[in-house]
Amino acid sequence: MIKRLDVRDYIRTIPDFPHEGIMFRDVTTLFGDPRGFRMAIDLLLHPYAGLRIDKVAALEARGFILGGAVAHQLSVGFAPIRKKGKLPWKTIAQEYQLEYGEAIVEVHEDAILPGEQVLVVDDLLATGGTAEAGIKLIERLGGEVVGCCFVIDLPDLGGRSRLEALGVDVHALCA
Ligand code: IMP
Repeated sequence: MIKRLDVRDYIRTIPDFPHEGIMFRDVTTLFGDPRGFRMAIDLLLHPYAGLRIDKVAALEARGFILGGAVAHQLSVGFAPIRKKGKLPWKTIAQEYQLEYGEAIVEVHEDAILPGEQVLVVDDLLATGGTAEAGIKLIERLGGEVVGCCFVIDLPDLGGRSRLEALGVDVHALCA
């Protein structure tokens, strides 16, 4: 008998990682399963069928695994948004707040061309700070964000409302 599982059935929750009190959603089990991974990519893409997408941008690091597969499926290019200091050429940077302190993400200046319609991909939406920083980088380069898609949305942390307040469409596969 072939089992039929939902996306959330493939995700493992690890208590107290990386700090005590954090319930870490581990998507490596989703990535590691052939049907789970394929289903996640298909479902991430589902709302955008028929829409113009010129490029996929994704956030380091798990976003790259999803975003690369999504870009390949769409036959478009891929723009990596990375933590400060990782990209080798000229970059623009965007700072954002973490629970404790700040972080900076960067993108190559020529990763997004003016007028490109960009789909943003990441594994998980929590406060929305990381995705918002990515959106700002894309918009500063003249790109237009078609939407942001995630495998997991943690709705209590407010990320969806934060991104929707920017006028960005949010799509998530499970909460
Ligand atoms: P935010 O900026 O608060 O929305 O946090 C989202 C970012 O943190 C994403 O890039 C996620 O990869 C990462 N993240 C936060 N919590 C988790 C988790 O439980 N599992 C996997 N990634 C997480």
